[in-house]
Amino acid sequence: MRVDVITLFPEFVDGCARVGVVGRAQERGLISVTSWNPREFATDNYHTVDGRPYGGGPGMLMLIGPLRDTIAAAKAAAEAPAKVIYLSPQGARLTQRKVQELSVLPRLVLLCGRYEGVDERLLDHEVDEELSIGDYVLSGGELAAAVLIDAIGRLQEGALNDAQSAAQDSFSEGLLDCPHYTRPEQHELGTLPAVLISGDHAAIKRWRLKQSLGRTWLRRPDLLARMQLDKSARALLEE
Ligand code: SAM
Repeated sequence: MRVDVITLFPEFVDGCARVGVVGRAQERGLISVTSWNPREFATDNYHTVDGRPYGGGPGMLMLIGPLRDTIAAAKAAAEAPAKVIYLSPQGARLTQRKVQELSVLPRLVLLCGRYEGVDERLLDHEVDEELSIGDYVLSGGELAAAVLIDAIGRLQEGALNDAQSAAQDSFSEGLLDCPHYTRPEQHELGTLPAVLISGDHAAIKRWRLKQSLGRTWLRRPDLLARMQLDKSARALLEE
């Protein structure tokens, strides 16, 4: 998968994409992240990328021209069709389902806003989708792009050393993940749930599902309300 990021701060996005799971996925050739700086597509001597808003008001807006040319250059850099996503607090909230949907596409172009945002005409004509990472306002779209790249990168086949771990994560089956424990078995902070060292795999699976259901019910009942539970899960909830 190829991801092109349009940003006034390429070093920020490049840095995030070089480390951890996404860095490893890049090394393995599973995903490639390329940054494009609209300043390099500005046509004046000052490399201007922003302008004052018509009608007055605070702040500046990103100009159409440099952004449009940058998007065109990014799209032309590879053949596969690209979906253009604008990271925006006004977009649909990013969910794991959306991440799963995007992770199988061949290409994404991510547009990171700065200042007060982007001229609306550019969004109307060049952007396919707007996504938000939450109901708060960041000073730029780079962190949001990094969040999206990380979430997508770890779903690329072969990115995680154990393919099962993504499948077990919160949200992947609609529920929150169960609690996990590691060494030592005995600790002053507490003991392990005995079932985890019983060797009974069916019992462990059942315990984990029950924990996931319980946690989701306590912490995120909205998730449960939205999902179709199978018979065994419903029986566990009723126990
Ligand atoms: N004036 C805009 C508004 O109120 O909708 C906010 C502009 S914000 C200061 C600058 C840029 O940060 C936005 O263009 C967007 O790219 C990014 N951004 C801010 N909050 C975000 C969020 N919650 N999710 C995704 N991107 C965000």
